[in-house]
Amino acid sequence: MPDVFADLVGQDEAVAELRRAAAAAAAVLRAGAADREPALIAAGPASGADAAPGDVDPSTGMTHAWIFTGPPGSGRSVAARAFAAALQCAYGTGCGECPGCHTTMGGTHADVRMVVPEGLSIGVGEMRALVLRAASTPSGGRWQVVVIEDADRLTEAAGNALLKAIEEPPPRTVFLLCAPSTHPDDVSVTIRSRCRVVPLRQPPAAAVAEVLVRRDGIAPDVAQWAAAAAQGHVGRARRLARDPEARKRREAVLAVPRRLTGVGAAFDAASALIEAAEAEAEASVAESDTAERAALETALGAGGTGRGAAGAMRGAAGQLKELEKRQKSRATRAQRDALDRALVDLAGFYRDALTMTLRAPVAPVHTDTAALAGAGAQKWDAEGSLRRLEAVLACRAAIEANVKPRIAVEAMMLALWKG
Ligand SMILES: [Zn+2]
Repeated sequence: MPDVFADLVGQDEAVAELRRAAAAAAAVLRAGAADREPALIAAGPASGADAAPGDVDPSTGMTHAWIFTGPPGSGRSVAARAFAAALQCAYGTGCGECPGCHTTMGGTHADVRMVVPEGLSIGVGEMRALVLRAASTPSGGRWQVVVIEDADRLTEAAGNALLKAIEEPPPRTVFLLCAPSTHPDDVSVTIRSRCRVVPLRQPPAAAVAEVLVRRDGIAPDVAQWAAAAAQGHVGRARRLARDPEARKRREAVLAVPRRLTGVGAAFDAASALIEAAEAEAEASVAESDTAERAALETALGAGGTGRGAAGAMRGAAGQLKELEKRQKSRATRAQRDALDRALVDLAGFYRDALTMTLRAPVAPVHTDTAALAGAGAQKWDAEGSLRRLEAVLACRAAIEANVKPRIAVEAMMLALWKG
């Protein structure tokens, strides 16, 4: 296995900072072994983004709470997991070879917990249980690491439970939060003030293409196209490069602008967009749903006979129901995510039209529909392109604010048609 940071694409600065911190953390452990009282530099309300130069640069030290921010697909959770591995690394700062690195990357390290909300939010019950476990002594003798993916989906109560733990962290506990940004909508100001922020950028297309070629064995020309079309989203680039169905769904989304010939067509386009997102979501969760169900059934001994088995099956019905509930809420979230990605694709099209009208010296997002965007650019003036781009962004915002997706998408299609 290569170095644990190998999959973090185009984030050299962040990786350098995380390595320094992991080295500092290892030094704390060594000092602790002599001293029995390891201490981390706590991130006070004033520290964070811009550390002042001084005798001790706090940005090179280790601290208890971190926030990884960046646009979707930039690798927030990849960075958090790699950093967790670096903290558990026995030989360096994420060698990728030792048991600490291996088990963390494989998701089986006893002292690393990844919290992935499967519903639309992380509840207070889940958070309290987590905080409690995080306070225990690390069994591997290093750090208890809790990674919270999508920390922006914490409920307010869950956020408060987390804040308490971050304010008075157990000496060997490290919290790694992932969120789109440090905007108060994503992370509360008080949590933000206690964390060091690691901003990730949208990786450049060339870096994404490089990793698709190197790691996934994808042909260079396909990798380049997919990296550009995915707009810096590494996972999506991989799916576009590998999955013909994903490419078809993207084409359907980008066909929307030329299909908008009237009111009826606008409503049809709305239905098509929503159905495409549903299909995309279904494809993304189908595999794990089936695997989970099979694993649970095996664990419950489905198909067994005898008195013990009958009693077990009564309990099993409850567990299966619980699993179905969890899977349903994950499916809802997957649908929202897929619809959002479709809207980002569509926004990319109108952005291309706008930059062409303005003759801006930037490469188009969608090279394969550049001609179509060019035709749009001729027909609409810059304002018309901008209004359409704004209609797409308003639709994203409306869905984010819990407007029913179909209603928001229909309103958007009408706005795109009217221009
Ligand atoms: Zn290692």
